[in-house]
Amino acid sequence: MSPVPGSGLAKGLAVTLRTMTRKTVTEQYPDTQPDLPPRTRGVIGLFEENCTVCMLCARECPDWCIYIDSHKETVPAATPGGRDRSRNVLDRFAIDFSLCMYCGICIEVCPFDALFWSPEFEYAETDIRDLTHERDKLREWMWTVPAPPALDPGAEEPKELAAARKTADKLAAQQEAARATASHADEQARAAEQPTRTMGDSKQQTDQPGPDQPGQPGPDRPGPEQEGRE
Ligand code: SF4
Ligand code: SF4
Repeated sequence: MSPVPGSGLAKGLAVTLRTMTRKTVTEQYPDTQPDLPPRTRGVIGLFEENCTVCMLCARECPDWCIYIDSHKETVPAATPGGRDRSRNVLDRFAIDFSLCMYCGICIEVCPFDALFWSPEFEYAETDIRDLTHERDKLREWMWTVPAPPALDPGAEEPKELAAARKTADKLAAQQEAARATASHADEQARAAEQPTRTMGDSKQQTDQPGPDQPGQPGPDRPGPEQEGRE
């Protein structure tokens, strides 16, 4: 069956009209920043203090784009007669983002929570070598890592949080006790001072002759010199 003449044009116009009335979804980047979900995989941040140089992330990375250098250091024994210990010291930690495929395996396997996703994505470079981010740059990305999502209401409190809360409660109780002791000591000192001052004041009042006592000029009474002159 041959198509009705002009039906193609009508169909095309219908599509155009439908699209014209639809809400636009174009993001005006870079004039408007995109509203990204908090778990966006933008760049990897390194929390160096947590890294024990276990090399798990570098071994598991499918692209072999994590470079780690370290050396061993001897830590003297903490107690006399104890054994010296050795520990790894990080010399270099770098990720080559020109090779990285953002799979997140390194972050998943890190047993010490030293690697995190940051939603930052604006680090394009004109030289590919600049896409290898060294430890300082990876540390800077840590400032852009969003806070972890809140726990489920029925979830068990993590033991780190429980320990931190216990220490904070203990400190607060110690400070409160110290404040209470100080205020009690102040009250006692004030109470001890009060009777002495009252007694001293009353003695002063007793020693000082009032205006009606003999020998003292009162408002209506002339002084001794005035009496003699009269
Ligand atoms: S995200 Fe994947 S590819 Fe990128 S560094 Fe981590 S493990 Fe390697
Ligand atoms: S897995 Fe974690 S702790 Fe081990 S070397 Fe990598 S970042 Fe450091």
